[in-house]
Amino acid sequence: MLKDKLDKILLKVQKPSRYIGGEVNSVVKNKADVTMRFAFCFPDTYDIGMSHLGMKILYSLKNSVPNYWCERVFMPLPDMEEEMRKNDIPLYGLESLEPIKDFDFIGFTLQYELCYTNVLAMLDLAGLPVYSKDRENLFPIVIGGGPCVCNAEPIADFFDLFVLGEGEEVNLELMRLAEEYKKNGGGKTDFLIDAAKIEGVYVPSLYDISYNDDGTVKSITPKCGAPAKVKKRIISDFDKVYTPDSFVVPFSQIVHDRSVVEVLRGCIRGCRFCQAGFIYRPFREKSKQTIVNQVKSLTESTGYDEVSLSSLSTSDYSDIEGLLSDITEYTDEKGVNLSLPSLRIDKFSDEVVNKIKSVRRSGLTFAPEAGSQRLRDVINKNITEEDIFKSCKIAFEGGYSSVKLYFMLGLPTETLEDIAAIKELADKIIDLYYNTPGRAKKAISISISLSTFIPKPFTPFEYEPQATKKEIDVRQIYLLDIIGSKGRRKIDVSWSHYDTTILEAVLARGDRRLSKVIYEAWKNGCKLDGWNEYFKPEIWDKAFITAGLDKAFYANRPRSYDEIAPWEHMDMLFDRQFLVKENIKAHEGKTTENCRDKCSGCGLSKCLGKPCFNYGG
Ligand code: SF4
Repeated sequence: MLKDKLDKILLKVQKPSRYIGGEVNSVVKNKADVTMRFAFCFPDTYDIGMSHLGMKILYSLKNSVPNYWCERVFMPLPDMEEEMRKNDIPLYGLESLEPIKDFDFIGFTLQYELCYTNVLAMLDLAGLPVYSKDRENLFPIVIGGGPCVCNAEPIADFFDLFVLGEGEEVNLELMRLAEEYKKNGGGKTDFLIDAAKIEGVYVPSLYDISYNDDGTVKSITPKCGAPAKVKKRIISDFDKVYTPDSFVVPFSQIVHDRSVVEVLRGCIRGCRFCQAGFIYRPFREKSKQTIVNQVKSLTESTGYDEVSLSSLSTSDYSDIEGLLSDITEYTDEKGVNLSLPSLRIDKFSDEVVNKIKSVRRSGLTFAPEAGSQRLRDVINKNITEEDIFKSCKIAFEGGYSSVKLYFMLGLPTETLEDIAAIKELADKIIDLYYNTPGRAKKAISISISLSTFIPKPFTPFEYEPQATKKEIDVRQIYLLDIIGSKGRRKIDVSWSHYDTTILEAVLARGDRRLSKVIYEAWKNGCKLDGWNEYFKPEIWDKAFITAGLDKAFYANRPRSYDEIAPWEHMDMLFDRQFLVKENIKAHEGKTTENCRDKCSGCGLSKCLGKPCFNYGG
């Protein structure tokens, strides 16, 4: 039995609690009562996956159907993988400790391009062929969901199908279809043709792709009745969206060890680099009462003493102060901390600081993204220096003494003057701190975190080249020079590794030919690429050579507005011409209003059948 084999190896690996299941609120069903089994795979470690809200929602949703059983599966760390392989233990579900290759569905949530080799590693560890074409039986059906599905082409060959958009409804529709096939019989090809008729389902094997001599996509041709464009699924009545009233509570500490309530979906902002801001449109929020009820039920069912309000920008909730009042009435009484991880600088009011003052004052985090106003206008960040100073002042008066600022290097139109403005901004924040009456007695600490801009599909910057390593190096060295060694005593600077960001850029805007690169990289030892300690850039470089493909072609090349994108057959429900217009405005340094102030006509309201906001008042 798998359990006996597991017992023998668990004490040989770090944090065995990641691999045993049995946590509070995990769902164990009687196999005899179950008609569909789903392995929900998070292609990263337990500690990261267990913090992911989407997984909690879909796990609970599927298990809410009495005859469906969904189990959790995570990527084992190398010590566990080695022991599993040595002892002939296939990848298993944490609830039943049974091999997932015997389940009906194996579903991966694809949050991040650097998890792609983990998908292959997990399929292989499960004992399944990694290529869809080599899995001849209908079951298990290997499916993918999550934001990366807006361009799943680089991993298309490994999956049977993908779900585009919000998964709450479509997952159950797919399971019902599979249940019929299981009962009545039928092969994989017929199932996939039927599945492609469900809105939001993308079956990659039903599309032929051809390429031009210059390597760009020439055509994308659907077959067997598959739609020319796969339409993203959305939940229109977000207040009624399925929300779990309990979460699995891990035995050991995970990345975000608290309960989480999603308050809104979408974003009103339209930052031109931000894929989430576009692909999760339209903006929808839950009512205050619904949110408060969910805070209460999750706190009671999990015992957590911290609850977090989650969204792309929680402070954009229409009545954030009223919401915080209602929630803190409950959390203060129960001694539960409230945390707001995604605050915008321009919405950081006295009221908000007061409401969250019970939360640990570990520091403030802001993301101006660009140092100069000119460049913030180019990216449509729509915040001013005054917004930043106002928020910092309020925070300093409230006792904060450390600030973390996130910036991106390599943004379109960036010059060294924009880089110098990062240092000037940090200097002004330091001056502001020392001039704030009633500030904390400690010295201020400022951290500047630099990432490299990655152009992503379905953003106005999808046409932009990523800056080369040489260009990024020049900018980093320049910033360190002007801060100087004395300045670095107060201003700490850190940055991301270029090797991982260019790989993310390649995979984000890549085409189907990249599956060979991913396969070669994985076969030769790449996995857990998002972890610096496991990332092996030299193996990836060799994989590109073996596949005859060039990273620069995918990452560092500007793309024309009329080039056929590898993701052209995905319909995210907004007008692609809107992205072109926004790209032109970026180069003109013009901003676009947020959706709540004025609709800019991206076309998404058509799918709602009404305006996104009531502009009449
Ligand atoms: S239709 Fe208008 S309000 Fe709605 S998401 Fe698009 S730009 Fe924003």
